[in-house]
Amino acid sequence: MTKSLRTKLVFVMLILIVMLMTVVTVFLIRGVRDFYLDEFYNRISAAFTDTDMVSALRDAANEPDAAEQMEDILSAYAGQLGIDSGTRNFYILDGVTGERVAGAELQRGETLAMTPNILTALTGENAYTGNSGGDYMDAAAPIEGTNGRFIVYIRDNRATSQNLSASLFKMILEAVAFGFAASVAISLLLAGTLLSPIRGMTRAAEAMAGGDFTRKIPVESEDEIGTLSTTFNTMASQLQTTLDELKNAEQLRRDFVANVSHELRTPLTSIRTYAETLSDSPELPEDTREEFLRVILNESDRMTKIVSDLLDLSRLDSGSGLKIEKFSLEKSLRDVYAAIALSAERRGLRMTLGLDTLPQISGDRARLEQVLMNIMTNALKYTPEGGEINITCGVDRSRVWVKISDTGVGIPEDDLPHIFDRFYRVDKARSRESGGTGLGLSIAGEIVARHGGEIKLESVYGSGSVFTVILPIEGPGA
Ligand code: ADP
Repeated sequence: MTKSLRTKLVFVMLILIVMLMTVVTVFLIRGVRDFYLDEFYNRISAAFTDTDMVSALRDAANEPDAAEQMEDILSAYAGQLGIDSGTRNFYILDGVTGERVAGAELQRGETLAMTPNILTALTGENAYTGNSGGDYMDAAAPIEGTNGRFIVYIRDNRATSQNLSASLFKMILEAVAFGFAASVAISLLLAGTLLSPIRGMTRAAEAMAGGDFTRKIPVESEDEIGTLSTTFNTMASQLQTTLDELKNAEQLRRDFVANVSHELRTPLTSIRTYAETLSDSPELPEDTREEFLRVILNESDRMTKIVSDLLDLSRLDSGSGLKIEKFSLEKSLRDVYAAIALSAERRGLRMTLGLDTLPQISGDRARLEQVLMNIMTNALKYTPEGGEINITCGVDRSRVWVKISDTGVGIPEDDLPHIFDRFYRVDKARSRESGGTGLGLSIAGEIVARHGGEIKLESVYGSGSVFTVILPIEGPGA
């Protein structure tokens, strides 16, 4: 690929140079030819309209040695006519036959061709008709005297113009050769500049194909290549992010499966152990047997709770619909409060509900009551006897908030970021003892998030926690 782009560039440059030089050559050579043509006809026509020269020639034509005299006169005017006895010559022709009678000598065997201009002059008219294609330029003027009819004929063999064109052509060829060399050098240089970022990109793409997305291409210009490099780098880092997310998700999934298995195996093991003991030891006293049966029932309740929580989470994960309706959050708060107030009192906890007037909100009432119930039950579970639980609420612009604060055990700072993770518990034994599954807060978090809200948590280990549920009044998507 590298080779071909380079070759293409060199090729394009060469074609350009050849085209340019061809055009220049054509224009220059045509210009030289036209210049000499114009110069010839202007000079000759000016001379033949010069009355002095023409009348001197006419006078001479009256003399007996007319041809010689005319030759002398024309020699005198040679400068004006541009006669140089090489390229440009004059001849005196017989005005009837057109044959040379005086003037420049003809080479041996050379005859003067009967040009259109001579033919016109034979009819008695001046003739300066230019011919741009031929290899000569000529002009003929008839001169009539008492001693005969003559034609003054001037002929230029164009050697000057052709010599100049030839040397111009040589110069142009030299320029083309130089241009070829320069363009090859420039195209190689240009190819190098263009190809270096492309090579970098190729290497990065190869690295990417091998799974390494960290390779960055240096962005050295603001042109199209620069933009391409930037886009490439952005693409690489986006791919890296996606890959990281996928790896994270995969890790979460593995952890989750491991957690589920572990959480279900624990109660299953106890159930099996107790059931086996019961079946293998018929001699056990009645109250021990009853105790074992109670454990079996408790453990199976626990499994049922875990499974139903997992089902809940999986429903939320799969995005199954919330039942959105307008309802009074104030009433829900009062209901949930009433449902647990008694057990709070039994545990020796002081619980208060500071109600404010709340607007009706849009949301899934049963789900949101589940959230409130979960946080309030946690407050009860993790606050020792004599503690306090205060519930307050309010409106903040387009959102409502419910704050549940307790003077309980609090959560260590290191655990705070994980509290909403599935199966995460600060104190597994304590949570298990109180019937917790470690799924309650992650379910609550999911439900609130699905409503477009959030749960904020502040906690000081050893002195208590504050959970604040914030929900948009207009419901999800508001
Ligand atoms: P669990 O079923 O174990 O209560 P949750 O998901 O409801 O599970 O809570 C996760 C963990 O967060 C609990 O195990 C507990 O360690 C901690 N936690 C929740 N609420 C409180 C609270 N009010 N005070 C102290 N710790 C709490």
